[in-house]
Amino acid sequence: MSFEATHTLPLTAEGVWKRCLVQIKESVKPLSYATWFEPLVATAIDGSLLTVEVPSTYFYDWLEEHYFEVIQSSLRDALGPNAKLQYAVRVPRAAASIQAQQQTFDFESTETEDGVVLQEQEGLDPVLFPHNLNQKFSFENFIRGDGNQFARAAAINVAKNPGETAFNPLVLYGGVGLGKTHLIQAIGNAIIESGSRKRVYYVSSEKFTIDFVESIEKNRTIDFSNFYRSMDVLIVDDIQFFSGKERTQDTFFHTFNTLHQLKKQIVLSSDRPPKELVGLDERLISRFQCGLTVDIQPPDLETRIAILRKKAEDDRIDIPQDVIEYISSNVKSNIRELEGCYIGLIARHTLEQRPINLALAEIVLKNVISSDKRDLTVEQIQKIVADHFKIPENSLRAKTRKQEIVLPRQVAMYLSKTFTRASLKTIGLHFGGRDHSTIIHACKSIERQLREDEGLRSHVDQLQKHISFVSG
Ligand code: ADP
Ligand code: MG
Repeated sequence: MSFEATHTLPLTAEGVWKRCLVQIKESVKPLSYATWFEPLVATAIDGSLLTVEVPSTYFYDWLEEHYFEVIQSSLRDALGPNAKLQYAVRVPRAAASIQAQQQTFDFESTETEDGVVLQEQEGLDPVLFPHNLNQKFSFENFIRGDGNQFARAAAINVAKNPGETAFNPLVLYGGVGLGKTHLIQAIGNAIIESGSRKRVYYVSSEKFTIDFVESIEKNRTIDFSNFYRSMDVLIVDDIQFFSGKERTQDTFFHTFNTLHQLKKQIVLSSDRPPKELVGLDERLISRFQCGLTVDIQPPDLETRIAILRKKAEDDRIDIPQDVIEYISSNVKSNIRELEGCYIGLIARHTLEQRPINLALAEIVLKNVISSDKRDLTVEQIQKIVADHFKIPENSLRAKTRKQEIVLPRQVAMYLSKTFTRASLKTIGLHFGGRDHSTIIHACKSIERQLREDEGLRSHVDQLQKHISFVSG
């Protein structure tokens, strides 16, 4: 009796990982390889389960988000179709205590009776339904801010009473990277954590579409429909991708109606308000609008600072306040980018053993920020703003609350934060010894008005041009 030669050789973790790396190296850029793969160490192998140690949870999030497929396919090639990867996270400062947190990913896809392909995750209660949720998205780690508080409140409400509020469906819409996926998954996670036995299922509209098409090919559309109609809570992400897919829309329409009539909760996300969705059937759009539709706006400065602080706190990494402020004031419109900068910072800090300071932050941000911060001073900005609005420069520093001064002063504060390296505290000092919270307030207020007020936008545009001319 002879087995395949490879199976008779004892595999070492190191050996298997080496084989994966050869393949990974071919598919990713050299810098990415050096940054994200070289620091990884394979520590154990148990059957088809390989354990790899990563420097931080962010590392592993990043790997999962950007390199999932590459890793998955290399691992399958090295270990067969049942290959599983487990990340062991080294927690910084916890004195070499390894494996404080572990996450397992099972690459094995299992087909249910419904013909729906589900990703199994090890560690789940087997009686629990495979809900497809990522447990890292919770309400606890979702920072509340001006732009998202209504959406957050609605989401919490729905999570408390799924199917029993008027918020059915709950539709969250907003731009890229603003937390839609986070919030709608947090709803699902909260419902499961509450101990209810509700069947919760999260799916992207793309996966819904792919599964539907597959069910047609396999003659299993009825199973497909039954599967979705058996849910208590159905969460569908990025419904804009249903656009132009008529048969999928048709199926979704019927699924929606069935669930809605049974008072099951439906949660949807979209990149724009439902009524602006093109390529979507009118009757579907009108269904989407029969519950609550809430937008998520870009985070203000204070929220961005809070998000970074929380991340650093969770990772137990000290980031100086000026660095947090610098990143937060330069990465404005997208929380995913904010996280990208944070990860870049931590990566360089851990890999190159460099201290976390402004110099490092500047290097990391170079690719992200549009307008390089030059060696401009707060005074120079004050002069430009005073000239532009034809007011005396010292009125910006004075205590006066005259309306014709207050707005230019806030604009000057906002531009100082955007175009200089000065901290909030320093800027406050330049504006007649005002508190840092005044500067935050000004930045928030101007950011908000810039979204609404064309007149102000044009002023600020002109000022920015002037500033880049001076500093260029
Ligand atoms: P969207 O689905 O709107 O494109 P995501 O939900 O994927 O955005 O959010 C992008 C990233 O930003 C995620 O990692 C998410 O956890 C994070 N994020 C977004 N909003 C917040 C917030 N208010 N607090 C903490 N993290 C947030
Ligand atoms: Mg999303």
